[in-house]
Amino acid sequence: MADWTIDDAERIYRVNRWGAGYFTIGDNGNLHITPDLANPDIRIDFNSVIEEIKQEGIQFPVVVRFHDILRSQVACLNKAFRENIEEAEYQGKYMGVYPVKVNQMREVVEEIVDAGEPFNYGLEAGSKAELITALAYNTNEDSLTILNGYKDEEFMRLALLGRKLGRKIIVVVEKFSELISLVKISKELDIEPLIGLRSKMTVKGRGKWESSGGDRAKFGLTIAEIINAAGYLRDNGLLHCLKLLHFHIGSQLTDIRSVKEAVSEGARIYAELYRMGVPLEYVDVGGGLGIDYDGSQSTNDSSRNYNMQEYVADVVYGIKEVCDLENVPHPNLVSESGRAITAHHSCVVTQIVGEIKSSSGNLDTSYKEDEHVFVTNMRDLADSLPEADNIQEIFNDASQYKEQGIDAFKLRVLGLEELAKIETLYWQIMQQVQMKVSTQEFVPEEMQELDYNLSSQYLCNFSVFQSAADTWAIDQVLPVVPLTRMNERPTVNCSLVDITCDSDGKIDQFVSDNGLADVIPMHKLNPGEDYFIGLFLTGAYQDVMGDMHNLFGRLNEVHIFSYDDDPEDFYIEEFVRGSSVEDVLSIMQYNPTAMAQDVKRMIDKRVASGDIKPREGVKWTDFYEACLAGYTYLKPVKK
Ligand SMILES: *Cc1c(COP(=O)(O)O)cnc(C)c1O
Repeated sequence: MADWTIDDAERIYRVNRWGAGYFTIGDNGNLHITPDLANPDIRIDFNSVIEEIKQEGIQFPVVVRFHDILRSQVACLNKAFRENIEEAEYQGKYMGVYPVKVNQMREVVEEIVDAGEPFNYGLEAGSKAELITALAYNTNEDSLTILNGYKDEEFMRLALLGRKLGRKIIVVVEKFSELISLVKISKELDIEPLIGLRSKMTVKGRGKWESSGGDRAKFGLTIAEIINAAGYLRDNGLLHCLKLLHFHIGSQLTDIRSVKEAVSEGARIYAELYRMGVPLEYVDVGGGLGIDYDGSQSTNDSSRNYNMQEYVADVVYGIKEVCDLENVPHPNLVSESGRAITAHHSCVVTQIVGEIKSSSGNLDTSYKEDEHVFVTNMRDLADSLPEADNIQEIFNDASQYKEQGIDAFKLRVLGLEELAKIETLYWQIMQQVQMKVSTQEFVPEEMQELDYNLSSQYLCNFSVFQSAADTWAIDQVLPVVPLTRMNERPTVNCSLVDITCDSDGKIDQFVSDNGLADVIPMHKLNPGEDYFIGLFLTGAYQDVMGDMHNLFGRLNEVHIFSYDDDPEDFYIEEFVRGSSVEDVLSIMQYNPTAMAQDVKRMIDKRVASGDIKPREGVKWTDFYEACLAGYTYLKPVKK
């Protein structure tokens, strides 16, 4: 093992790069967590977390939530704004909000609200259900509640209820008709609203969500509409309610230049409006603060070429510069970073339950009298390989012989066993070819795919559609690493497949030492030993966007709190049970109770007719019911 160090593991898994200080590879080869950046003495070994989950009898796959990471991110963002504001002698305050849509789980929202209390950190809601949540949970009267998204009259009434409850609740108008309805209802209820306007921006973000900006953006008012809106409010005696200018040019902004451009465009609009007599107090720069999922620190879709510090500095200094030039007051700053707050705090932990190889099933290929000449040809080719100097030729011949073999089988010239021999020999040849080719400097194009074709697929006990929807939907890269054994050289290049019956249920884009790779080095599975992997940075969007494809339901969850006095530095504060089979069936309108009764009746009938013994019948009935109440994922054999 001396030829393999933790630095080598770091080079291929890039944990420090995407881990943002929270995750590192420990000297013992296990993944370690430092859940609070302000308290680096607390270090949790992921293996201890796994052991505790097993001891509690909780089935995998499991979502592991580190609440301290959430708190730490809330503190980091708010402190970054405070520090920059102080350093820049910026006159306004930072009044950030967490956009609920990024992760609506109650525990997540509660934790963020609680950690944000000292900073007057608020919530952003983009739908009626989210607003109803914000009304109940954002009880800090000094923090903001920002309301985006399309709104009906009920939505407006709920917002005005918030005003009655003494909240700083700002309705951001996305389209002009909303303003008319808001003014009407506020007059009817005699409650003054706080109003924001969302500006359609000319700058486009760069990245997957760039259509959130530009002329064809779905949301926001044009400059002409903004001026009309101010006029409409003035006519209705409500101009003093217009408090906030909002823009949001997209999530996961990969290039800091689009942040700078949006900030200066937004600041210009603010300054002009202010000078026109609109008493704006806040500029809200929306979301977009990106995450370096692939650790490349680049403008890749799954990365970004800046960090939180730089983003915050660009917002603060960018707005200050424009305001100072235009001689208008510095507005209070609002941002709606969701991804940056939640991505790191949760991950999916699961075990590998099998290996799939294209070349598996080796058959005895030794010579047999009166075998077909195609088999002989392939064997001769294999035998000639050690001395061969033209690898390309061998590769071409083998490929051709294999195709011939398949055609011959279809024409009933070749038997099944002979075809199997040809296949076995073919893969043996390809393995040799790959080995020879890997030492060459130049690898011909056709043979470059050999690595992938010969790689294993590790079968993971989870569903991509439930737990990593964006890897399927938008090719999002999420870091995957083994949670143990990183002090051993990984010898198996593999991609990952899930347990759904869908060939899209796979992960074949990985963080690697030079950009992205379609395979990831993992360790050989040891018989009788669990091999756990973690899928990281799933806390933003993935947690709640998953669906029940194949009726795989929500995952079991454990919530980890750090605790310095504990020998392992943590405890499981809560276990939230995932969906049972019954749960997912009920959602699909089945009636599990009736189903159990039906199956019992059928078993009873067989018992009555003597096909099943009574004791056996009871066992089958109980078994069916236990499976109904059980978890939707695989239950690997106890080791
Ligand atoms: C989705 C959304 C956000 C959150 O964006 P992140 O990139 O996750 O920080 C913020 N504001 C609005 C209006 C959004 O639609």
